[in-house]
Amino acid sequence: MKVVSEISELKKIIQEWKQQKETLGFCPTMGTLHAGHMDLVHHSKKQCTKTIVSIFINPTQFNDPKDFEAYPNNTEADLKLCEENGVDLVFLPSVGVMYPKTETPIQMSIPSLQKTLCGRTRPGHFEGVLQIVSKLFHLTEADYGFFGLKDYQQFRVISSLVDELNFPMKIVGVPTKREDDGLAMSSRNLRLSKKDRETATLIPRMFQLAKKTLLGGEKNITVWKEILSDFLLTGTNIKIDYLEVVHPITLQPITELKGNVLLATAVFVGEVRLIDNEIFVCPE
Ligand code: AMP
Repeated sequence: MKVVSEISELKKIIQEWKQQKETLGFCPTMGTLHAGHMDLVHHSKKQCTKTIVSIFINPTQFNDPKDFEAYPNNTEADLKLCEENGVDLVFLPSVGVMYPKTETPIQMSIPSLQKTLCGRTRPGHFEGVLQIVSKLFHLTEADYGFFGLKDYQQFRVISSLVDELNFPMKIVGVPTKREDDGLAMSSRNLRLSKKDRETATLIPRMFQLAKKTLLGGEKNITVWKEILSDFLLTGTNIKIDYLEVVHPITLQPITELKGNVLLATAVFVGEVRLIDNEIFVCPE
């Protein structure tokens, strides 16, 4: 496995692989890697001949500096996991490499997809995501980009970027990998206290309840959301950032429980912000 930190080193390897007609799969990450990230790698390895992982905690996508500072960092273990899972190349740039001081800042946004869900309470987040993935897509010249559906809004924003701006690549969404108790795997889970980790299991259980009530005939979105938020909040230290029902493609709020709907949530368990989502097919 090759590990490089400089753009010139990365480009040299990419050029060679392009000449050899390799198919390049790319999995961008912020490190502290877990089995969810490795699922992206496994999808890439099935579809592509070379798999690239980037590990970069991107400062421009953190609207809260405290969140950026608290973000875990685990390079040694990350590289070991990548090696064990057959990654071909890890790109591990510094902030100075990705954002040289001479750079003129560019701001990108896809307003309709960004003004809902996480975009509402994390101003600037998706602008930062669009900026970093655009740079990384160009640097890696990837044929495929693999993204987790856990970050569903991110997946939609990036899919739209690639479609609308004709990036010569395909975006693949990878299903959410979960712990045995259903909690979506996340680097942030490490920051949960033992008690908060237990409380966090209410999130996947809330999605089970959502399914049960929907199959039980609930048709009213407001009532549905109330049942679910009560379930999360009663007797817990959970704070709901949002609990929304939106169209899975446009991410716009919907008024009827009809067809495919995306139920998405972000909650604070103690200090830690966790997100999860599921697409439901509403019964006729
Ligand atoms: P992050 O390091 O959190 O920025 O995540 C990097 C990539 O891994 C993103 O595409 C995430 O959606 C994906 N990812 C993170 N957690 C999971 C998970 N539990 N299951 C599947 N993909 C995930």
